[in-house]
Amino acid sequence: MTIIFRSIAARGIRLIALQRVCKRRFASATLGAPISIIDLPETHLMLRDTCRNFAENELKPVAAAVDKNHQFPPELVRKMGQLGLMAIAIPEKYGGTGLDYLAYSIAMEEISRGDASAGVIMSAHNTLYLAPIVDNGTEEQIKEFVVPFTTGERVGCFGLSEPGNGSDAGAASTTAKLVGDEYVVNGTKAWITNGHEAETAVVFATTEKARKHKGISAFVIPKSAPGFSIGKKEDKLGIRGSSTVNLIFEDCRIPKANLLGKEGEGFKIAMTTLDAGRIGIAGQSVGIGQAALDCAVEYASKRLAFGAPLTKLQAIQMKLADMALKLEASRLLMYRAALLKDAGRKYTKESAMAKLHGSETCTYIAHQAIQILGGMGYVSDMPAERHYRDARITEIYEGTSEIQRLVIAGNLLKEYDVK
Ligand SMILES: Cc1cc2nc3c(=O)[nH]c(=O)nc-3n(C[C@H](O)[C@H](O)[C@H](O)COP(=O)(O)OP(=O)(O)OC[C@H]3O[C@@H](n4cnc5c(N)ncnc54)[C@H](O)[C@@H]3O)c2cc1C
Repeated sequence: MTIIFRSIAARGIRLIALQRVCKRRFASATLGAPISIIDLPETHLMLRDTCRNFAENELKPVAAAVDKNHQFPPELVRKMGQLGLMAIAIPEKYGGTGLDYLAYSIAMEEISRGDASAGVIMSAHNTLYLAPIVDNGTEEQIKEFVVPFTTGERVGCFGLSEPGNGSDAGAASTTAKLVGDEYVVNGTKAWITNGHEAETAVVFATTEKARKHKGISAFVIPKSAPGFSIGKKEDKLGIRGSSTVNLIFEDCRIPKANLLGKEGEGFKIAMTTLDAGRIGIAGQSVGIGQAALDCAVEYASKRLAFGAPLTKLQAIQMKLADMALKLEASRLLMYRAALLKDAGRKYTKESAMAKLHGSETCTYIAHQAIQILGGMGYVSDMPAERHYRDARITEIYEGTSEIQRLVIAGNLLKEYDVK
């Protein structure tokens, strides 16, 4: 089976093999068998190896150039699609890979270890664009806006944030007004990942202002819709290979049929989408953290100081131990959030914990890695400074660290029945 994985061309056979193992696992899961997090299931190990090879051989070698040029090669997105990574947890009947969120989190870690930009392109497409349509869309919407987006040929994006509100997503000022058989959308969505390349966007707009966040609705809006344009690409600190743009709607007309779910369900759709999305950002964080740790260990084992490699110094060993410890804790939190979601259990608190711990850990590890590299950590000859810049975003998007703490505390206090 491992050999099957090595061939990108054999995607169909490989996916069938993957799904067979997965179905066996799901069958045992429904019987109440505990899922081990000491050893990952065979399917997931195979997926991890496939993603690791791809990241090592195809992403890592170009990551510095991608960062410098602010451009991720579209052919690599297509390759990720051929590997089944652009629709991992989407059911097979809709053209997806039919795996679960444990698989998604593992793939996100491995891909981001190779290149954090590839990670965010994949996560915005999988969890922010495809998932809410599959979960809330009609069969017609899925046929039009999901099925053709599973191969890596086309990407989608998710427009929730606005120039005037990010954390306070319920204060959306973008509006959608029903006029005859069409909605007329007006407003601007800010900071949208994949927005430059995306052919279609899931967009949130207010349909009934008086109802505040309960008056927000979700829509699927193709770029071809009249009145839909995009702004310039943002010049970012990190994840520079992924595009971030404004989506601009000026009397943008879309058919009534492009409403996702019912009117007024948009805020709930957005929050549920972000719960799952945070598992992906936890994966991205663990991947960046692992890459920074890899870089630190490799450098420290070769760099001589006072007649011996840095790895012989206990001060360096202490740093490496703390980095590895925090990283492993983040990975376990990520697995737990994913397993809870896969088991159909509540996971809002756990995905916020996984995202918060993972993101703060990856900025910590990237910081320490630079320290271990000394001057070489500060220049672009080595990847440590890129990991440091890439890490920073994980504490901001899909809810800042402050917002994750509010989510965790809110759920925690509910568990204690504290009003
Ligand atoms: C590179 C990038 C990609 C992104 N991709 C997307 C995307 O694809 N789709 C999308 O919709 N959005 C996207 N975003 C937007 C992102 O989700 C927001 O930037 C984020 O939610 C924070 O919102 P804000 O920038 O408006 O900050 P603000 O909400 O203005 O927050 C500023 C500061 O105040 C703090 N703060 C705010 N409210 C509270 C509170 N109640 N309690 C304590 N502290 C608080 C915040 O934690 C933060 O530290 C992206 C952003 C970036 C930078």
